[in-house]
Amino acid sequence: MPPDSDKPRGLTRRELVRVLGTSVGLACLTPLAGCGSFWERQTAIPVDSWHKGVCRFCGTGCGVMIGLKDNKVADVKGDDDAHNRGRLCIKGLATRDILYSEGRALHPMIRKNGELQPASWDEAMTLVARRFKDAIQANGPDSVAFYGSGQLYTQESYTANKLFKAGIGTNNVDGNPRLCMASAVTGYTTTFGKDEPAGCYEDIDHAECFFITGSNTLECHPIIWERVRDRKRSHPATKIILVDPRKTPTARHVDLHLPILPGTDVSLYNAMIHVFLEENFIDADMVEHYLSFQEGEQKRTFDDFTRHIAKYEPETVAKTCGVTAQDIREAAFLFASSKATLSLWTMGLNQQVQGTASNRLVSAMHLLTGHFGRPGATPFSLTGQPNACGGVRDTGSLAHALPNGRLVANPKHREEMEDLWNVPRGRISPKPGHHTVALFDAMNRGAVKCCLVMCTNPGQTLPNVTAYREGMEKTFLVVVDTFYPTETTKFADVVLPAALWVEKEGVTGNAERRYHLYPKLVDPPGEARSDLEILVDLATRLGYGDLIAARTPRDVWDEWRKVSAHSQYNFEGITYERLQKERGILWPCPTETHPGTKRRYVPGQDPMASGTGRFDFYGKPDGRAVVWLDHQEEPLDLYSDEYPLIFNTGRILEHWHTMTITGQAPTLKDIHPDYLEIHPYDAHRLKITDGDPVIVKSRRGEVELRARLSDIVRPGMVFATMHSARHLINQSTHDAHDPFSKQPAFKRCAVSVRTKTV
Ligand code: SF4
Repeated sequence: MPPDSDKPRGLTRRELVRVLGTSVGLACLTPLAGCGSFWERQTAIPVDSWHKGVCRFCGTGCGVMIGLKDNKVADVKGDDDAHNRGRLCIKGLATRDILYSEGRALHPMIRKNGELQPASWDEAMTLVARRFKDAIQANGPDSVAFYGSGQLYTQESYTANKLFKAGIGTNNVDGNPRLCMASAVTGYTTTFGKDEPAGCYEDIDHAECFFITGSNTLECHPIIWERVRDRKRSHPATKIILVDPRKTPTARHVDLHLPILPGTDVSLYNAMIHVFLEENFIDADMVEHYLSFQEGEQKRTFDDFTRHIAKYEPETVAKTCGVTAQDIREAAFLFASSKATLSLWTMGLNQQVQGTASNRLVSAMHLLTGHFGRPGATPFSLTGQPNACGGVRDTGSLAHALPNGRLVANPKHREEMEDLWNVPRGRISPKPGHHTVALFDAMNRGAVKCCLVMCTNPGQTLPNVTAYREGMEKTFLVVVDTFYPTETTKFADVVLPAALWVEKEGVTGNAERRYHLYPKLVDPPGEARSDLEILVDLATRLGYGDLIAARTPRDVWDEWRKVSAHSQYNFEGITYERLQKERGILWPCPTETHPGTKRRYVPGQDPMASGTGRFDFYGKPDGRAVVWLDHQEEPLDLYSDEYPLIFNTGRILEHWHTMTITGQAPTLKDIHPDYLEIHPYDAHRLKITDGDPVIVKSRRGEVELRARLSDIVRPGMVFATMHSARHLINQSTHDAHDPFSKQPAFKRCAVSVRTKTV
């Protein structure tokens, strides 16, 4: 089959996923029976030279080898020496074709008479700078904003954050990680005092029990899944537990599946802890020396915690969760009794109104049972984007944050950053900026007049999106993107074309704290520029050229790693020379001879941890991690006679986010994810047959999809993917958010479903 075929080599999507679940199924060196030609291009194209790099897509951060021919990327294959062991999934392989797709944004554009029309860079940037200056002068610094992305390189997020917070003087800096990982951040910081996972991918090779919750790992993190399967293949006694409302492709390969009702995680984890207590699986040394207990602002004791957990007997909460008490008890037993348990999770946990509580309860399960800080024993949140961790979380490019775990609200932290950035004391505003939902609401209200949107598509991704598109229309919106058009460029006043992947240089940090380098190998098409060049240009035109003195990827990286040396995230030892040679390095890494840190908080392994005990939770003043007394709350968007079904959203293997990138790949673009999964029982009741056009209606809006009858979903629940712009499912989703992380609750809302003709 030729590589530019519109069809995925004759395999249906369902067939492909089945292959993935049972065999390599990834871009490996061994052709798959029945689909060997799928990866034929990998070895068929002669190249002039190979260069190491990293995949453009998800937070797994797979190492790739990039083959150049005639100054173009001719081929992409997995890097045998990187953590992904030579494997790539279908998205990573498609990157070459995407680079040369027809949908690239090639020239700056300015909206004139309602139409976006070509303009020169100077004309476009002059207009942007003038509108930002006018807004700041007339309405103050908080009338402008930056909305970034976990796909920008670290140098780009760092520079934008510095320009807006230390230059312009506003903390209106947020981005799409707020929609996907903010609850993981608050979960980690409230538990350990510091963000980011304590463990590493290598832990997968040592685990004897996997507790996967809120993650369709096979489809969304296929290379991680394959490593889990490697462990199971080599050690068949390894148990895999899955908590997911849907019978996903992942569910077909696990030992125990708990199809929990969305939004009831807190009950489930508390019930599992109930079993730990009842069956004496608690690590008494951990409780005595390394843990503290807290409820809201109040300190609590272990006895208080025990009384709190008594309310969550499995038999009591089973109905709430929609699973059996026996399955809860079995899951708890497998979790606690294994030699090493590894938890993996992602959006299913994070995108809830109790996302923070859910995150910290999973960490609590590890801490209480002692499944922490040993090979294979760790709580580990997976990441959707390649640089949400290294670029946005670590640099503090969020409305409430400052670099390396500092907070805007903390005067000492502001002073530290003012000194490090060499700006006068008082320059950084003490007022946290608008988090994502609040930012777009401020646009609706006219409080934010200008916004620079980089490398993301809020016109499609925001929850309850119709309500916020109106604000985008009113605002002077500058959209920097690699592709045109998108749902967001519909509202842009200026569109600026951006370089993609190895058309520019930068560093990202993946889900295991691994910083790695993307080299610049080819020139961008048309007049596209790197996001860093665009930010430096804007800074200069706004009068902050002296502040943004580091202007090359290398100079910005050197400034940033020196800033990190004044924190417990210290990665001063990750020099450019090392990044060029090595397959990435895990921070903390304080010196150039330090090998990087696999497991944090363990004295002798983590250079930031001191003492001779088992752990030093140095992010907390007393050195103890916090176990929280969290209560299950009522779901916000209750179902009713009018809205009797639970609507759940997610992703599929072949597409990524809003398809602005994967929708360009010949191999992927015709795999349409515009369907609504509905259980045959509900379909029968509603007189819906397979393939019918149906209207999904919530209290906020409605969307048309094609019915797909499937027992993947349980009765009473329907599911659709977030990918397609043809059917904006976020017209129906809920913009209620977790009170701590401000992350919206995409995973649950109440809807009705009817055939279109009714
Ligand atoms: S798993 Fe993620 S990083 Fe790895 S190849 Fe696939 S999309 Fe790229």
